[in-house]
Amino acid sequence: MGTRFTLLLFVLLCLLGVEVKAQKANKFTKAEKRLIKEDGLMRVLTINNEEDSFLLRKPSFDVKADSSNKKLLRLIDRTILTMTDSSQMGVGIAAPQVGLLRNLIIVQRLDQENSPIQAYVNPRIISCAGEKIEGREGCLSIPNRSEMVFRQQDIELEYSDWNGGKIRERVTGFTSVIFQHEIDHLNGILYIDHLANDQD
Ligand SMILES: [Zn+2]
Repeated sequence: MGTRFTLLLFVLLCLLGVEVKAQKANKFTKAEKRLIKEDGLMRVLTINNEEDSFLLRKPSFDVKADSSNKKLLRLIDRTILTMTDSSQMGVGIAAPQVGLLRNLIIVQRLDQENSPIQAYVNPRIISCAGEKIEGREGCLSIPNRSEMVFRQQDIELEYSDWNGGKIRERVTGFTSVIFQHEIDHLNGILYIDHLANDQD
């Protein structure tokens, strides 16, 4: 191995180390910052593309919920813009779908007045209750397809608030299905994975 090659390898590993450290410290990496800085709609990753598919299968990292974090606010704005684009018309989207492995989802709250679109940082499902019910689901990352999926109808969520604390909330009905679908994305799970083991 030449000295130049060894040096290059060392520099590359250091850069990779810095990126991984940033990811684990809930900070955006340079690559993520570049993506957030772009303008307009974001590209939605789909399972039809091999590289996209690989990324959609990876687990995401937490991100610091801080209202002074302009990058996070910009990412939320652009992700919402992408979800509500007339060609997409989604009721939910997760950050991995726009290329960032971050625990951030957008959900249209169909259970609330005027169905507001809201962002949730570091969401987790704490508990589920009741029986699973079958319903039709589609996904922006799985174009031109929809399937019947069994889901819980009553869940308890926990997510970060903007002051460093946690919020717990109970969500029921179809809106809880949207949360389950989007939180699955943060764990590299797609709705088609539930088809084989429907009634577990
Ligand atoms: Zn989806």
